[in-house]
Amino acid sequence: MLYNIAIDITNHCNFDCIHCLRDKVAPRAHMSPDLLDLVLREMSSVGMMNVCLTGGEPALHPELNRVCDLLVDYGVRFSLVSNGFLFEDKILPLFDSKVRRHLDGVCFSLDGATSASHDMIRKEGSFDRVISSIEACVKEKIPVSVKSIVHSENRKDIVEVAHLCASIGAGSLGYVLLTPTPRLVSSNLLPTAEEYSEVIRQITGRIMPSFLLNISIEGFAHPDYRVPLCNPANGISFDHLGNFIFCCNLSHPTNGDSPNVFGREYLGNIREIGIEEGILRHYRTLAWFMDKVMRSDLKKDWPVNCTKCFRLFGKMKWMEADESADNRYR
Ligand code: SF4
Ligand code: SF4
Repeated sequence: MLYNIAIDITNHCNFDCIHCLRDKVAPRAHMSPDLLDLVLREMSSVGMMNVCLTGGEPALHPELNRVCDLLVDYGVRFSLVSNGFLFEDKILPLFDSKVRRHLDGVCFSLDGATSASHDMIRKEGSFDRVISSIEACVKEKIPVSVKSIVHSENRKDIVEVAHLCASIGAGSLGYVLLTPTPRLVSSNLLPTAEEYSEVIRQITGRIMPSFLLNISIEGFAHPDYRVPLCNPANGISFDHLGNFIFCCNLSHPTNGDSPNVFGREYLGNIREIGIEEGILRHYRTLAWFMDKVMRSDLKKDWPVNCTKCFRLFGKMKWMEADESADNRYR
């Protein structure tokens, strides 16, 4: 059932992470409060009352106080994803008691148990900032979840990441397996299929049973389960321009030096088609997607199922020129 709406409120970001999936060539823009008002009005009209604000980096939105006012006015519950760098300066001060009543939690990116492993793919000084942001939330009793990228340099640290998350007070930890991007491939930071399979074995066999944290693996679906219960089975997604996108992961993915071109993931714009037609198109695309996934052989080779999905939506065309990479990540 669709109950959640992911909204990119901006495509600006203060980081330039090596693994970033987002198109950095397209023009930068924030979602206007008027457009957010329309999205919230439409979703409320069909009883959808859960929002996840994402980006880019939400802290860069210049009218965040207006964004919070709208969430409160429409009575929706919300969560937010942040890299944590500007969180204490720009976001936390907006969480007054009125906003807090609607806030379900904040999800931070934490890509290692030390500044060396986190900062190497994010930004210098970003580890200290995100730890401080998490501590500030825990102190304020704001639920915290963590997403942690697993790449070839930090894959040996995944147990330490779980220890750090548990000790700092995070409630859940999602390890993220990476979908190739041009920069990831050229930087040799992508683990091999065998290395990722070992990571999956370690998380499921050793880490999950040992921690009280709610632990998941994102980007991976067990090949024995034929029905894809990933993002689009649970919610719909909007980009910063009000376009319905089939899955937030497919929202303007990088196409190397060329801008992303919309494919089947684009379902229409809220200003033109309204929420009901958008939901119908989402369900039709979900039926097509499930049919494709159930007919494919998920047991083959590269274990990151989002990569297979990116191919399905024509988002890996940039890789076809590099035959060896194209074969490695199939
Ligand atoms: S991964 Fe997130 S924080 Fe990093 S550049 Fe992309 S949008 Fe920004
Ligand atoms: S498999 Fe596709 S639809 Fe599912 S979460 Fe990954 S990118 Fe999104």
